[in-house]
Amino acid sequence: MDDHVITLNAGSSSIKFALYANGDEWPKMLATGQIEALGLIPEFEVRRAGDKNKTKRTLDGADAPKNHSDGVKIILGWLESAFPGLRVGAVGHRVVHGGKKYSHPTVVDDAVLRDLESFTPLAPLHEPPNVAGIVAAKKAFPGVPQIACFDTAFHRTQPFVADTYGLAPQFYDEGVRRYGFHGLSYEYITRRLADIAGQNADITNRVIICHLGSGASLAGAKRGKGISCTLGFSPLEGLPMGTRCGQIDPGVLLYLMQQKQMSASEISDLLYKKSGLKGMSGVSNDMRDLEASADPRARQAIDYFIYRIQREIGSLMAALGGLDTLVFTAGIGSNSPTVRAEVCQGLGWAGVELDGQANKSRGTELISAANSRVRVYCLQTDEEAMIAQHTLRVAGLAKAVAAE
Ligand code: ADP
Repeated sequence: MDDHVITLNAGSSSIKFALYANGDEWPKMLATGQIEALGLIPEFEVRRAGDKNKTKRTLDGADAPKNHSDGVKIILGWLESAFPGLRVGAVGHRVVHGGKKYSHPTVVDDAVLRDLESFTPLAPLHEPPNVAGIVAAKKAFPGVPQIACFDTAFHRTQPFVADTYGLAPQFYDEGVRRYGFHGLSYEYITRRLADIAGQNADITNRVIICHLGSGASLAGAKRGKGISCTLGFSPLEGLPMGTRCGQIDPGVLLYLMQQKQMSASEISDLLYKKSGLKGMSGVSNDMRDLEASADPRARQAIDYFIYRIQREIGSLMAALGGLDTLVFTAGIGSNSPTVRAEVCQGLGWAGVELDGQANKSRGTELISAANSRVRVYCLQTDEEAMIAQHTLRVAGLAKAVAAE
């Protein structure tokens, strides 16, 4: 039973995990769960495949994990009791930043771990907990390969003009680049699309994927390879998100510093946590709340979200030289027919026409009208499955070897 892999996604105060077995096309998910509020009063939540509901318990007293290492031990303990005889063949980690060096999933040895630590200045909020998760898993699973899967890797195929800012080359050379994120989601969607396309290769020719979750971005892909992403150096660029501002004139930052004497940490707090849908509406960062709200500022926030998506689609179409397929995914993209309809309403000029019924019917993947020049899909993303597939392959455990 050592063709099982665990995926870990370690955040600053949470660890999400899943257990997978080898499968024919995609790995088979056996269980998922998470520990939340690490270091406070953590909650441990698990669900086995086939179960309708999650089981949740509070980890208090002597049980309470204080750090990632304690958390991984608790996850391992639960997995061993739930799946007696389980032998884990590899652990796959979601790592937000692979810098300019890592364009593929990689086995983490000491040198790679040092590289990942050195990327902290590029992703100060995300990289340290990702690294802590790897260190904890190395301790808990001695001798088991640890595979880092990067959210930036998908975009490393983008050309220089999509990878750079208009700064002197020394900045590019030291790593001030447009890395892009949500890469594991984009990779999963492009592979799903290739499966759907089969022999009809036109479908994967010029593709725009709208990953609209609490973090939101768009990416352009040509035959499965990333060519440009709305996210750049940090997860702040591009679309407005749940609490992040998206595109902003750097002159605004100078104004905040020079005229309002705001410190770097105050500006960071404003741009990451108090902007986007939440900051604009004053209502919520959750699209469901905004759609249900009668507050005109909630409507304005949605209007701005839609407007930016449409503008960025136009911009990516120019970079792609046209558009064959448009995909909606992630929390908002998969679940809000209203957002999909409003985005597409403004794209008739681009050859996009939705089938209103298909768009509203849950689980329907192809949602464009029969006469639409551009095919429009609504697809569920699955970053964990992507990590599991990479992990099985890189660790040499895969049954079906997925093409790179
Ligand atoms: P994350 O970036 O945290 O992975 P998700 O992809 O899970 O986020 O997306 C979460 C967001 O999806 C929520 O904040 C909410 O705005 C949105 N969402 C989920 N369900 C719906 C729905 N039925 N209608 C509109 N928005 C939804």
